[in-house]
Amino acid sequence: MPVDDLPEDDLLNRHRAVLPSWLALYYSEPIEIISGDGRRVTDSRGRTYLDFFAGILTNAIGYDIAEISDAVREQVDSGVLHTSTLYLIRKQVELAEKISELSGIPDAKVFFTNSGTEANETALLLATQYRRSDQVLALRNSYHGRAFATMGITGNRGWSASSLSPVKVSYVHGGYRMRGPFANFSDSEYVAACVDDLRDIVEVTTAGDVACMIAEPIQGVGGFNVPPDGMFGAMKEVLDEHGILFIADEVQTGWGRTGEHFWGIQAHGVVPDAMTFAKGLGNGLAIGGVVARGDLMDCLKANSISTFGGNPISTAGAKAALDYLLDNDLQANAAKLGSQLINGLRDVSVESPVIGDVRGKGLMVGIEMVGPDGRTPSPAAAARLLEETKSRGLLVGKGGLYNNVIRLAPPLTLTEEETQEGLAILTESITVVDKENK
Ligand code: PLP
Repeated sequence: MPVDDLPEDDLLNRHRAVLPSWLALYYSEPIEIISGDGRRVTDSRGRTYLDFFAGILTNAIGYDIAEISDAVREQVDSGVLHTSTLYLIRKQVELAEKISELSGIPDAKVFFTNSGTEANETALLLATQYRRSDQVLALRNSYHGRAFATMGITGNRGWSASSLSPVKVSYVHGGYRMRGPFANFSDSEYVAACVDDLRDIVEVTTAGDVACMIAEPIQGVGGFNVPPDGMFGAMKEVLDEHGILFIADEVQTGWGRTGEHFWGIQAHGVVPDAMTFAKGLGNGLAIGGVVARGDLMDCLKANSISTFGGNPISTAGAKAALDYLLDNDLQANAAKLGSQLINGLRDVSVESPVIGDVRGKGLMVGIEMVGPDGRTPSPAAAARLLEETKSRGLLVGKGGLYNNVIRLAPPLTLTEEETQEGLAILTESITVVDKENK
């Protein structure tokens, strides 16, 4: 029987039989999304949801956007889905020109991949080759992808396998502040402590020949942890003293999502040597990449290509998505509605002991859920909130070191009415979970 004709639970059983056990699925009854429009999606049982996770921060513009569909359709209609990246691809060049310009990195060049993982693997390859060193620094509680090097440098126990890493990794502070040793410091004390820690790690525990430091400007999977503005600028001074390259992983924070800036790292007054990106760029199409200083990008001596990275369909769609994002100033919309969301949730948190923290920037908002003592991480409360919001027609994300952070990252085209609708559902759902959390 074709999949489309089967009841949903059969699809789930078939999924479990042939897909890996570690492939995470949301919800006690996982859903199958079959259509989308604006910020809403509909599942195979006809239920419609407001999507406050934008797929998985992938649908940055939203669903069924004519400009993007038309650009993809035009390529499909040409009869060429893909031939080879050994030939010239006009849209790849145009998209690279635009990203190079937007990056602020001098003489920047772009290499396209199919995912964030590949983008970070490529950036690590470039940095380790350039510096002739396999020593890498990453932040505690980071997530950079699921392949050999990227999973190996991921500093979050739920997502890492660091003992298998092909590069040597040391972890520094600066990620998850709320439960770290510097939690009670002021912003300036916190930055100073992280800078000291970085210096100590480099000068005491390594031979000094470190290739690079890689960091998410706001940790994504790690629970939307926002460091004080300027922190990475202060850390980069230490990196510069030692010739260590700095890679900003903008897979979640790029393309205006943080509101204030186009790239998350711009809040730190620093230009990295390379940035990696994926997720939101293609509005759902599989595309990622690295934008790096020209000399760093060109340091590889061997020939290399990605068979599909930079293909005509994903670059045509991504170029249309990027034009849409810039033409409609979605970054400004993210700043405005993100503040409404954060302020609204902070108001709710005053009456809700189950909320331990509300944090974020732009449309990247985290709600940290805690137990009855007001402090212990509560993954159970987060799991309940996920189900309660779903039952009221709202999709949200989950994450954090203890899997106790609800993550909100709606499409950047979100409207004021939808912000209020989402807030109302969250408020109702939080009240239910709060009552259970005694
Ligand atoms: N880097 C960050 C910050 C991410 O959040 C992710 C995915 O969640 C990745 C890298 C890996 O990207 P992908 O899943 O596209 O391989």
